[in-house]
Amino acid sequence: MLRRIDLRASGAPAEPDALASVLPRAEFDVEAAVEAVRPICSDIAQHGVHALRKYAEKFDHVVPPSFRVPADALDKALHDLDPQLRRAFEISIERRRLVSRAELGDHQVDVDVASGARVSQRMTPVDRVGLYVPGGVAPLASTVIMNVVPAQVAGVGSLALASTPQREFGGLPHPSILALCALLGVDEVYAVGGSQAVPMFAYGVPGLCPKVNMITGPGNIYTVAAKRLVKGLVGIDSEAGPTEIAILADDSAVPAFVAADLISQSEHDPAAASVLITDSETLVAAVEDELKLQVAQARHAARIEASLTGQQSGVVLVDDLDAGIAVADAYAAEHLEIQTRDAAAVSTKINNAGAIFLGSWSPVSLGDYSAGSTHVLPTAGCACHSSGLNVKSYLKAVHVIDYSEDALAEIADSVVTFAEAEDLPSHGRAISIRQERTR
Ligand code: NAD
Repeated sequence: MLRRIDLRASGAPAEPDALASVLPRAEFDVEAAVEAVRPICSDIAQHGVHALRKYAEKFDHVVPPSFRVPADALDKALHDLDPQLRRAFEISIERRRLVSRAELGDHQVDVDVASGARVSQRMTPVDRVGLYVPGGVAPLASTVIMNVVPAQVAGVGSLALASTPQREFGGLPHPSILALCALLGVDEVYAVGGSQAVPMFAYGVPGLCPKVNMITGPGNIYTVAAKRLVKGLVGIDSEAGPTEIAILADDSAVPAFVAADLISQSEHDPAAASVLITDSETLVAAVEDELKLQVAQARHAARIEASLTGQQSGVVLVDDLDAGIAVADAYAAEHLEIQTRDAAAVSTKINNAGAIFLGSWSPVSLGDYSAGSTHVLPTAGCACHSSGLNVKSYLKAVHVIDYSEDALAEIADSVVTFAEAEDLPSHGRAISIRQERTR
């Protein structure tokens, strides 16, 4: 079922870039999707609600009676929420909040670089954030928690949330998404799908949605492309696109677990990537057998099979564990599972991954819902430069500079020399004028 990329003996490329280029990746990339969403973004910037209606009909096959979800719909969704599901939501919220508060830590940095010369760092939250929760393929209620909890812990003052309108719910987002918004106290909620919600947030839509300063949250390749397009006008978190799992495994791994975890991420999207990296032919054969059995029993078998057999998925065969570590690091997976002997020690050798799941008892599904970690993670190799969504994503660092007269005098010549070297004498003058005044 999985295509094979055999990097044994022939020798895998040594350079990470060259190595990454022979690993499985999707053919339709974010850059291609950017061209598809560019006209949508400018249409929404120019024509607001009129354009939102047009694209809701085209992509979501329903036009909501009102793009802003009415307060009574949020209240009703919470009222109707199944108690067992509510308990599952609450556990997930508690754990994510516990980790978020610890991530917040103590930010205040005060450094006296010399006598009377202090540089401090203050962290301030982004004022207004637009959060996106996917709902095109499956209603990802868990993503409400992953967005809202760290934003609230960071102290973001104004939160707006958008999710895909659902035809079977009269154009509202899925009730579990609305119930979670109500549970978490988010009352500005929009029934708008990803490639429309991103420009709505970025440019603002008069009479509907004020512009935000930042957009966070995952989505399909079009949603991610729209975020790439508006980046700069607003801040974004990482490019969290179609999900990826890479499993680095040796012959100690349990084939049924490996197969189940590959399948679990393939269930997200036909474009999801599931990659097994191993030095064990025996494991590959056993995992293939398990895949056949388990996919046949899966509710979303067609979607899973499309993902597993797509060119973004595959088995990478390597000579040994060290070669596997190099492959995993070059691939920079959104989710990396390590199912080897001494997984914790192996994980210390990995530099590039969105999140790392150790051993047989920490599967990605746990992280998707209730581990306490984030599930909004960088994809398509972006884990080599970006982090998953966390409290610090919503904070900005502000330096506060406080020098006394004597402290400035002490460094003045140095600054003037520096300014002259850059041919910016007025910079130097702003220093020397002060020295003349005080003489
Ligand atoms: P979604 O809600 O982002 O997509 C639905 C929206 O896509 C539509 O409302 C529309 O706006 C847009 N769209 C659809 N077809 C389009 C087209 N041809 N042109 C322009 N825009 C179009 O997402 P989804 O489809 O429900 O999929 C969810 C995705 O989120 C999956 O790929 C999943 O793997 C991913 N995900 C990623 C992470 C992460 O952290 N990386 C986390 C959770 C989910």
